[in-house]
Amino acid sequence: MNESISFDSIKKLVEKQKMYFNSGTCKSIKFRIEQLKKLQKMINSNEKNLLAALKSDLGKSEAEGYLTEIGFVATEINYMMRKLPEFSRPAKVRTSLAYLGARSYIYSDPLGMVLIIGPWNYPFHLLMAPLVGSIAGGNCSILKPSEYAPNTSELIHNLVKDTFNEEYIAVVEGGIPQSTALLHNRFDHIFFTGSPSVGKIVMESAAQNLTPVTLELGGKSPCIIDKDINIEYTARRIIFGKFLNAGQTCVAPDYLFVHHDIKDKLLERLTQVIREFYSTPRESLDYARIINKQHFRRLTNLLQEGNIVCGGDYEEENLYIAPTIIDDISPDARLMQEEIFGPILPVMEYENLQQAINFVNSKPKPLALYFFSRDKRLQNSILDGTSSGGVCLNDTLSHITTKYLPFGGIGQSGTGNYHGRASFDRFVHKKSVLKQSFIYDLHAKYPPYKIPLSLIKRMLKLL
Ligand code: NAD
Repeated sequence: MNESISFDSIKKLVEKQKMYFNSGTCKSIKFRIEQLKKLQKMINSNEKNLLAALKSDLGKSEAEGYLTEIGFVATEINYMMRKLPEFSRPAKVRTSLAYLGARSYIYSDPLGMVLIIGPWNYPFHLLMAPLVGSIAGGNCSILKPSEYAPNTSELIHNLVKDTFNEEYIAVVEGGIPQSTALLHNRFDHIFFTGSPSVGKIVMESAAQNLTPVTLELGGKSPCIIDKDINIEYTARRIIFGKFLNAGQTCVAPDYLFVHHDIKDKLLERLTQVIREFYSTPRESLDYARIINKQHFRRLTNLLQEGNIVCGGDYEEENLYIAPTIIDDISPDARLMQEEIFGPILPVMEYENLQQAINFVNSKPKPLALYFFSRDKRLQNSILDGTSSGGVCLNDTLSHITTKYLPFGGIGQSGTGNYHGRASFDRFVHKKSVLKQSFIYDLHAKYPPYKIPLSLIKRMLKLL
């Protein structure tokens, strides 16, 4: 890992990018599409190396690595290359009658220099998906991968260095010192994915330069289950969403809130599905590992409360924690105080949906909220009665994998969104442009004002 990069060299790199951006090279649409093609080629020709790096950092299987990291980014690049000419065209909008002779447009201007800071859980996806938006927006970018996924970080560094000039796209590897050094510089946008606590640090440094930020954060995403469900599908969808990447997914269902009448049946089915998916999870190639010892110990310390329904075993030397379901958890338990971010699924029960809604509303706004029920009336109660980054009804995770829905949090779970069209919009400035002509000039608007107030009021209605 190239961790030796100093404050001074980071400053020089930022200066170089500024000069390159000011040269106007990255503004042309042709250039942006060429760069997206280069990124596509870089990924396609290094698929095996990327999958191997993800395997060594997180124990991800090839299928999971491709599905959740490489495949997602590949789809975003294809979509962006196809749609960029349309997205980047100035959009003509209506002009009020009061500005007779004028036309109005919204231009999508590049922002300038963008800093993208990534986490370790999807270390490729969560750096590259924002990069697609940044390239499409016509910006220069500096990427800071997470130091906790060192193999992926090093590979991304080398691949980007071989593919792009550093004055256009560069990677700065390292941890807090490098991140801090980067944050001391003036960027035009900072796109941060990580924890709410570091999000605050990023926002505070950005505020020194009034730099706008996108914060893709985390938190506890509830999963509420009514009694009117298809129990088979519900169980599979919950287990998939929870234990993918060993629960280290920002939108994983953090805890279950289950209707009393169905809880025992559901727990039985969830346990069976874990067996069907992973057989013996310790030996399954499809079951990932915990990122490091620090997180491993944090998670195993959470296994003290409630009744373990299944799992609960672990092995420190392999960073393995079994898919674990814990029943009879009190809302005051430690498991319910912080984002779990690991393969532990606490379960609580309710009699009346309003109890679950009240509980969710008493906590910070979640990144994702899951609700399983056939009952449309209850679905609407959830949609109308709660606030969250996104909602997925009768499934988990799929609302964030479609390019047609923007993805992002609200309040403590984040600010700003991306994916698909939203990724383009995130990395441009919507510049309002009114083009007036010399055909006509409305004298009445100039002083000395001779027209009565009533006429001014009527004129304002035309704006
Ligand atoms: P983290 O906040 O610890 O680290 C994220 C990045 O910030 C890393 O690159 C790290 O080097 C850097 N960093 C850490 N401390 C810093 C500091 N003091 N100053 C400057 N930079 C610093 O997050 P993590 O542990 O890598 O990821 C887990 C968190 O990320 C969870 O909360 C999870 O929910 C969230 N997450 C959110 C999304 C999303 O899309 N909303 C996706 C993945 C993860």
